[in-house]
Amino acid sequence: MTVNLLEFDLDGLTAFCERLGEKRFRAIQLFRWIHQRGARDFDQMSDLAKSLREKLKTSAVVQALPVISEHQSSDGTVKWLFDVGAGNAVEAVFIPEDDRGTLCISSQAGCAVGCRFCSTGHQGFSRNLLTAEIVAQLWFAEHTLRERLKTKDRVISNVVMMGMGEPLQNYSALVPALRVMLDDHAYGMSRRRVTVSTSGVVPMMDRLAVDCPVALAVSLHAPNDLLRDDLVPLNRKYPIDELMDACNRYLVHAPRDFITFEYCMLDGVNDQAEHARQLVELVQRHAGAGVWCKFNLIPFNPFPASGLHRSGAVQVAAFAKILSDAGIVTTVRKTRGDDIDAACGQLAGEVQDRTRVVERMAKRRTIAIEPAGSAARPHKEA
Ligand code: SAH
Ligand code: SF4
Repeated sequence: MTVNLLEFDLDGLTAFCERLGEKRFRAIQLFRWIHQRGARDFDQMSDLAKSLREKLKTSAVVQALPVISEHQSSDGTVKWLFDVGAGNAVEAVFIPEDDRGTLCISSQAGCAVGCRFCSTGHQGFSRNLLTAEIVAQLWFAEHTLRERLKTKDRVISNVVMMGMGEPLQNYSALVPALRVMLDDHAYGMSRRRVTVSTSGVVPMMDRLAVDCPVALAVSLHAPNDLLRDDLVPLNRKYPIDELMDACNRYLVHAPRDFITFEYCMLDGVNDQAEHARQLVELVQRHAGAGVWCKFNLIPFNPFPASGLHRSGAVQVAAFAKILSDAGIVTTVRKTRGDDIDAACGQLAGEVQDRTRVVERMAKRRTIAIEPAGSAARPHKEA
């Protein structure tokens, strides 16, 4: 049985190397080859002893996910659809901006939370991704983009766990993946630039604060339990006041001094002035010493099965003003990658029918672009 080395954080890789009779500094060298150089061929790893390379060849691989398709939007956003087997596909989206490059990553195939406004939620839950499958999205995107841009510099500076799935319902695979992102021998990202987004899995927020504190975004979407129970069914288990308390506890350990609340603007559902006033009251009631959150209003990306509609721009602006006037920093998210269905919540839009999605996608993707170079990468013909 060969092991996929993308499955390991540095401690895991060290343990693996020790089983092969190798010291920790060898694990560090190997880790750097894989994540900093994008190497997958052990023969390339010239500073490793030949005997170790031979051992690795028989016991390990560096295995990316097969790419089903790739799309590039006119605004530079790139979306990849990856095959995770048994007809399941997950997506990662790269969003370039002037001062940063952000990769949006998936944590599960499907999602069990079942939010009403989310196409992944409508799809249902298929399975948790392995650590290797989470890390592979970053490994592939970073090294593919570097190769294309002909640079040795880091292209992806930020990661947001905002693709498909609820990351805190795949906790044991998530944490080692975050450690790989943060490790100076791998991607060396700042904790402030790695964001876990959650619909509010309270006990796991507490664990994350201790195990691996990174920036946190909480998908709020409603100012009261009645409405949130309906939009985010997990609220029935962890109601808003408990969620707010968990946010305050998280802040004690967090690398940033605020939590970002995401709020998807749904026409006539959660976007009225009264809802904004309730949010202000909610935040003030839980604020303690001062303002501790930011709001990110997300224009809803509609899909037919939801029966919901995007709030109008005037409504969004009026809503934002009520929050801002109360001293809460509020931004309205730009939609990116609209033309390739890479905007939030659209990631799963095309994979709702889970039967033979891989074949179906492969047929439909007539404009798929082959990843340039590195033909050795596992890759499905599209
Ligand atoms: N499960 C996690 C992370 C993935 S969802 C969470 O819920 O936070 C990432 C973000 O996209 C969440 O804020 C989610 O509410 C938002 N989202 C989901 N569907 C959307 C849609 N159709 N339009 C706009 N945003 C959506
Ligand atoms: Fe799952 Fe997040 Fe979608 Fe809700 S919004 S169904 S938690 S992926």
